[in-house]
Amino acid sequence: MKSIAQIAAELQGYDPQALSTTDVLRFLSQLVTPVQDTVALPLFDALGRVLAADVVSPIDVPPHDNSAMDGYAFDGAQLASGAALTLQVVGTALAGKAWQGQVQAGQCVKIMTGAIMPSGLDTVVPQEFVTVQGDVITLPPKLLSPGDNRRLRGEDLMRGQPALLKGELLTPARLGLAASLGLETLPTLRPLRVAYFSTGDEILSLGEPPREGAVYDSNRYTVFGMLRRLGCEVIDMGVVRDDPAQLEAAFLRAAAQADAIITSGGVSVGEADHTKAMMKKLGDVAFWKIAMRPGRPMAVGRILQAKSASSPLQTGAISSQLDSNKDHAILFGLPGNPVAVMVTFLAFVRPALLQMMGCSAAAPPLLKARSQEPLRKKPGRTEYQRATVSTGPDGSLHVKTTGNQGSGVLSSMAQANGLIVLHHGQGNVAVGEEVDVMMFDGAL
Ligand code: AMP
Ligand code: MG
Repeated sequence: MKSIAQIAAELQGYDPQALSTTDVLRFLSQLVTPVQDTVALPLFDALGRVLAADVVSPIDVPPHDNSAMDGYAFDGAQLASGAALTLQVVGTALAGKAWQGQVQAGQCVKIMTGAIMPSGLDTVVPQEFVTVQGDVITLPPKLLSPGDNRRLRGEDLMRGQPALLKGELLTPARLGLAASLGLETLPTLRPLRVAYFSTGDEILSLGEPPREGAVYDSNRYTVFGMLRRLGCEVIDMGVVRDDPAQLEAAFLRAAAQADAIITSGGVSVGEADHTKAMMKKLGDVAFWKIAMRPGRPMAVGRILQAKSASSPLQTGAISSQLDSNKDHAILFGLPGNPVAVMVTFLAFVRPALLQMMGCSAAAPPLLKARSQEPLRKKPGRTEYQRATVSTGPDGSLHVKTTGNQGSGVLSSMAQANGLIVLHHGQGNVAVGEEVDVMMFDGAL
């Protein structure tokens, strides 16, 4: 395991006082490692989990050649003449009820979608294309080629072929695919346990009476929501007072129970509080100023687990749920401002947590949309602007900011469906110019 100093030394041009967003991501990818413990889960419970091992198909899917349409199955060799075909219907094949028997030239079998193709037949004419007279059907000429409207055995998946890969997030389509193989359970990586607390003496918990200079704790709820959307188990620790003993107890309790600890507040330069001091005391932590807006200050590192066996914080029950060799929790000390918290979470914490979850998916691509207004931007930092993306009258994507972009203004975040990403070197944006957009999609 590399120390913070070692990771920093390997990162070219590392400057904790002016770190670029790309360097933050590079740093974090070196800091975190995927969980190891696996658990087999029934399909309904596996949604949103990460697959712990490749899944090889035990069967051919579909298991038989079958019809893709409701119609009539016949031997496609008879199409060679190019003339209209007249066929006698000698039976019916239903889905789940095959038609047994031999079919001669000049004969066909009425067949339903999904029914097994009768022996020797390879082509299906959809029922709407034939004329029926008693038990005789007529197909128009030049309508079909041999093999049309037939699904081949194994065309979806062949037995022995990898159907799902380790590290894939179990989406609805992947659950369905696993079910189509007859699998009742899937090997998954255990979910991440993430502890969160807010710091700051001015932070009020819901239910507390308002007091002068105090604000309600919104970060607790935005972080909770983003963690749950990722499928993490959240250890919600509320607000921790700016008191060394309480902070120490909170960090140690979190480190004993969680894979990662997220805090908000208390990491900026002017902070008179004890949060930073406690992070330094209990772990290996870097304090950064990131070249970005919103969300400049951030602390990142590891909080070490209390070693003493007599520690009341380390119960057997709790540590057994975590990887056995775990001796620390990853720390993400986010800024206090509500939008800065959400943006730093989306930009850095989310990708790092996905890596810890063992998820191999690359970050979704940024979209290009035309800005409906000029945007002021200073080169030398990455800016994230809250915005709504919509389809313009010309069919292209349009994007418009949602108003006040102050780092504490949650209302413009609540209205947004994405963030305009103005990259490090980028300058002002003119009306109609294309910009990159990170859509919230399922993340928010
Ligand atoms: P800090 O990073 O501690 O200097 O906090 C920056 C700003 O964010 C201050 O205005 C805080 O009052 C505000 N803030 C900090 N934590 C929270 C929180 N949990 N909920 C809402 N606002 C917060
Ligand atoms: Mg503060």
